[in-house]
Amino acid sequence: MQRQLKHDADLPERASVAVIGGGVVGVAAALYLAKSGIPAVLFEKGRIAGEQSSRNWGWIRKQGRDVAELPLMIEAEQLWREIAEEVDEDIDYRQGGVTYLAQTEAELGLREAWLAKVKGFGIDSRMLSSAEASAMLGLNTHQPHIKGALYTPSDSYAEPRRAVQAMARLAQRHGAQIFEGVAVRGLHREAGRVCGVVTERGLVRCDSVILAGGIWSRTLLENEGLSLPQLAIRASAMRTSAVSHVSTSTFGATGASIRPRADGGVTLARAGAARFDLVPAAFQHFSAFLPLVQARWQIMKLRVGRSFFGPLGRHRWTMDQASPFEEVRVMDPSPDARLLEDVMRAAKKLYPHLAEARMVESWGGMIDVMPDEIPVIGPVSGVPGLMLATGMSGHGFGLGPGVGKMVAEMATGARPQNDSAAFSKTRFDRKARSAASQAAL
Ligand SMILES: Cc1cc2nc3c(=O)[nH]c(=O)nc-3n(C[C@H](O)[C@H](O)[C@H](O)COP(=O)(O)OP(=O)(O)OC[C@H]3O[C@@H](n4cnc5c(N)ncnc54)[C@H](O)[C@@H]3O)c2cc1C
Repeated sequence: MQRQLKHDADLPERASVAVIGGGVVGVAAALYLAKSGIPAVLFEKGRIAGEQSSRNWGWIRKQGRDVAELPLMIEAEQLWREIAEEVDEDIDYRQGGVTYLAQTEAELGLREAWLAKVKGFGIDSRMLSSAEASAMLGLNTHQPHIKGALYTPSDSYAEPRRAVQAMARLAQRHGAQIFEGVAVRGLHREAGRVCGVVTERGLVRCDSVILAGGIWSRTLLENEGLSLPQLAIRASAMRTSAVSHVSTSTFGATGASIRPRADGGVTLARAGAARFDLVPAAFQHFSAFLPLVQARWQIMKLRVGRSFFGPLGRHRWTMDQASPFEEVRVMDPSPDARLLEDVMRAAKKLYPHLAEARMVESWGGMIDVMPDEIPVIGPVSGVPGLMLATGMSGHGFGLGPGVGKMVAEMATGARPQNDSAAFSKTRFDRKARSAASQAAL
């Protein structure tokens, strides 16, 4: 039976640190603050892990990561192992490995190039031949296009529907206060310093604020007069009925990505396939995102519709008005049914054990993306008291405990275990300034 979070009736008047957002990042931040004895309060507008953090595929991987993220991911993996031991429920954490198949020589070259780049990190990634990958995963041996695979045996996965809820209960056990159904409308500042959050139920004072709001982070910051080049894209996934054989490793090919599930089925989706619903911020950040759009053009769909004027596009409200966060308690986009049919076809071709499988459930999720697809973690220059932990760019479930711990360390003035320089928001501030000065010439 699903265990429940404790719910306090009254908001505290103050806390040491206020966390905005109850996804994997915010919950991990609250957990590590609480573990170090810091009174933390977390506000979630809907329910814990209602958005991306329960809708993802559940892959926890070092494989394929940007090198800038690897040290933090290595730490995050260790934290996942500890969390899986400490929570009060089985979150289906398994170190079953991650395999990326290569179906063309070009893909094989990319996998090999990544492996060469990460040589110094001491991780156990290695190349497999086509025959080794097919035998290990139980693939269709007549599948003509497998040239080889990149495999990391120590990579893992967990069940997102349970993991973050269980982490939230663990954070409560360590003393964190967690409120669901309480939106933060904005920041409270005195003499330029952030020293509280204005919630829909009133002001809560604090020494610092961590914004871990996923796709809503940019919207909240814009209302505060701050800019963040972050956009949201819509992805789709499904789970199947039980299959005749479940591989230990999760694996991905061009047409389908497959994670074994404890219920005997698999979670199925296609990497990179997403839809972008245009919002006004896309124009403001157009040049920052152009390289990413060019690289992904073939697998991304662009749509211009009502969402342009929707809550994610809203710019301004006052603290006594309902915010977009109260308008959308849980972002629940519809999945792309046509895409998922195609994914199922591709998966059945690759993985014969899916022959009899049917789709049992499908869902959509909105992903927060940064132009360089790595997160923003740390302070905002000129806004003392505010820390960001956002922009996980589609791979923050695995990284989440590491990000939460890093921002918790920063919020309390401690030196983070890993170097945070690559995640600083200033990387965009610098680019924006140089673009503006180029334009002025
Ligand atoms: C289909 C899909 C597949 C994915 N697969 C993987 C995968 O296999 N592996 C992986 O590592 N990652 C994956 N991801 C990405 C991963 O899920 C995210 O990077 C991660 O969950 C982000 O966590 P978060 O805490 O930053 O954001 P979220 O989980 O989005 O949480 C943010 C929370 O903040 C709340 N909030 C926002 N604003 C406010 C406010 N003002 N007041 C109160 N609450 C607020 C929201 O309601 C939300 O619950 C996938 C994502 C999707 C959608």
